[in-house]
Amino acid sequence: MIRKAQFVVSNTDPAKCPKPDRAEIAFIGRSNVGKSSLINMLTGVKELAKTSQRPGKTQLINHFLIDDRWFLVDLPGYGFAKVSRDTKDKWEKMISSYLTGRPNLCGVFVLIDSRLEPQRIDLEFVNWCGEEGVPFVIVFTKADKQSKTQTDKNVKAFLKKMEDIFGDLPDYFVTSAEKGSGKEEVSAFLDELVSE
Ligand code: GDP
Repeated sequence: MIRKAQFVVSNTDPAKCPKPDRAEIAFIGRSNVGKSSLINMLTGVKELAKTSQRPGKTQLINHFLIDDRWFLVDLPGYGFAKVSRDTKDKWEKMISSYLTGRPNLCGVFVLIDSRLEPQRIDLEFVNWCGEEGVPFVIVFTKADKQSKTQTDKNVKAFLKKMEDIFGDLPDYFVTSAEKGSGKEEVSAFLDELVSE
């Protein structure tokens, strides 16, 4: 479990990220997927990650120092309905250069909304991670929003798509920030990843 979380720096330039001298885990997903809520659940610090960055606002790479030991990175979400081509291009450039160029990155947690059937934008993103050799795991969010049967159905459908793309299944977790479910499993996994 995380005991301490401190904000370090926000920036738009991957070159200006903190010195890569410790393990780092990044969180990403569609806007409104529940990323801030999940980060707040995991760190136990309310408002550590501010809820939803709005379209048009500067999209930032946010570094937090966890337990004086590793960096948690909150990446700007993708899939805003109403952003300009220019904003999308900037996001892509920033994110791809961060994800492919960060030497201390141990893993990317890709958040998927468990309420939805597999979404093309999510599949495209994980596909890109696979192609680029960016290690990732899947975290399904908002599991409390619908029945367990419906959650299981959406999770299964997404995993099936992943299996079709990659030939095997990624590590995955099913969570609810509302209920605190999945916190122990994700925390244990984070601990393992940053200890390797
Ligand atoms: P972000 O844009 O990905 O950072 O998403 P937020 O964390 O701001 O969450 C978007 C909306 O979904 C907010 O209204 C949250 O209260 C809600 N939300 C996030 N996680 C959960 C969850 O596990 N359960 C439920 N019921 N709502 C959630």
